[in-house]
Amino acid sequence: MTTEPTPTVEPTPTVSDDTASDRPPTSVPDGATVEACPYCERPFPTDRLRALHLGERHADRLTPEERATFEETEDEEIDDLFVYHLKVVALIVLVVMGLSYVYAFALA
Ligand SMILES: [Zn+2]
Repeated sequence: MTTEPTPTVEPTPTVSDDTASDRPPTSVPDGATVEACPYCERPFPTDRLRALHLGERHADRLTPEERATFEETEDEEIDDLFVYHLKVVALIVLVVMGLSYVYAFALA
C-alpha cells in the first residue's frame, strides 16, 4: 500500500490589505471630481465615505487630522444608524398594530 503525500493547504490570510481584487468595481466618469484615498488611491464620491474608509482600512497610518475626522464622521454615522433603526422599529410596530387591528375586525 502506497501512501500519497497529503496536499498542503496554504493558510488563508485573515486580514485584507485592500487590494484591487477585493474591492467592488468602481467606475469614475471622465471629468468627475472624486475623493481618493491617499494610501490605496480608491475613489470615493464623498469626503465622508473616504474618512470612514481611512479609519476602517488604514487605522494604523492615519495622521492626527485624519483620525479626528474619522472619529467625528464615525459619530455621525452611528447617529444616522440609530435614527435608521428607530424608523425600522416604528415601521414594524405600525405593521403589527395594523395587522392586529384588521384581525380584530375579521373576528368580529
Ligand atoms: Zn484606502
